[in-house]
Amino acid sequence: MFESASILCVGNELTEGTTLDRHGRYLSRTLGELGIPVRKIALIPDERDLFLSEVKALMQQSGLVIVTGGLGPTSDDLTRDVVAAALGAELEYREELWQELQVRFGGRQIAEANRRQAFIPAGSVVLKNIVGTAPGFMTDWGGGCVVALPGPPRELSAMVDQSLLPLLRQRLGIRVEAVTRATAFLIPESELEEALAAAAFDQAVWGTRVEEYRIAFALRGGTEQDRLGMLARVVQFFDGFRIRSGEVDPVALVSDRLRDLGRVLVTAESCTGGLVAKLITDLPRSSEVLWGGVVSYCDTAKSGILRVSPATLGEHGAVSRQTVEAMARGALAISDGQASVAVAVSGIAGPGGGTVEKPVGTVWIAVCGDTRAALTRAMHFYGSREQVRRRSAVAALLLIEDYLT
Ligand code: ATP
Ligand code: MG
Repeated sequence: MFESASILCVGNELTEGTTLDRHGRYLSRTLGELGIPVRKIALIPDERDLFLSEVKALMQQSGLVIVTGGLGPTSDDLTRDVVAAALGAELEYREELWQELQVRFGGRQIAEANRRQAFIPAGSVVLKNIVGTAPGFMTDWGGGCVVALPGPPRELSAMVDQSLLPLLRQRLGIRVEAVTRATAFLIPESELEEALAAAAFDQAVWGTRVEEYRIAFALRGGTEQDRLGMLARVVQFFDGFRIRSGEVDPVALVSDRLRDLGRVLVTAESCTGGLVAKLITDLPRSSEVLWGGVVSYCDTAKSGILRVSPATLGEHGAVSRQTVEAMARGALAISDGQASVAVAVSGIAGPGGGTVEKPVGTVWIAVCGDTRAALTRAMHFYGSREQVRRRSAVAALLLIEDYLT
């Protein structure tokens, strides 16, 4: 139905540089999840001729064209007129829109200028604005469809959620419940895409959304069994460690699990320099799930604070299974019974310090506690110092989750 979409954001503030466009990003992520790729995001000022030629050009390029902004009541709000002109349609007065505007104003004096907002291109479907006054609309034309959404972000996202997405899903034949969501961590987008393509069943539709340090993906089409089978093949492609079902944020995931189980964490961090503890304390009420943590960077801190034996450090090195396990046990010990799970991270964040045996990006992580045997993993990351550290923290969170499951 829609092989691709284009987004046109209208407003002087966008091209003058006073407002940073947020709609392009939000809409392309949302459409991507429905399996509609966005081919162009354009920003233009409130200029009639440019606006008209751009809409016409985009209508030739994409089945779905979304225009944002310019739906207000003032004379610089051009979207209704321009879209109608591009479609070769008349503007049509809709009495029900005028009635609704009056209800919105709740008896207050309503400017005659607002009457403009009761006009939309003939043949359009109205998209209700439950937050503000300007209704949006969706208009079919020969090859596709043009959608107009209001500029204020709160109004736009409410309209997308409540009105546009249900309509698009309906047109794409996607049933809301027929979706399987999962999240990939520490996997490049291109590799995930390849795996999804290789694992796909006939008629499978999938979309991915790149978030910070994770990729949420949704599988649609087929039966639930088809989708779960596809997900299982994707998991097989990678280390199952790096794929989790559901759309999940690793920090919230671990915090919630600790809270549900009534357990408290202590951290012992070397290369991440406290990042694991930082991420957990980013969330409110973190004192319920985090006792505290140690940044033990030098070997003498590992032995002095965490009681890692100099023999272990000497024999296996600071970046080793033995050392992270000893760090985790040491952290648990210094919490004096207040924490029941400990995580330890030690690795080579780079750019220097790597060896042939332990190249930059080698990171050992251990989780131990009072209920089961320690879980320990070595990870091998590529990337800058910052990326290695951040990925190490994500891997540590995933390992804590595994330990608690
Ligand atoms: P209004 O009824 O408020 O005039 P409108 O549909 O005409 O709504 P605009 O006037 O284009 O929308 O934009 C209203 C406000 O929304 C702007 O002041 C701006 O702060 C914000 N806005 C518009 N477009 C964007 C965008 N692409 N990204 C982020 N914010 C935006
Ligand atoms: Mg406006």
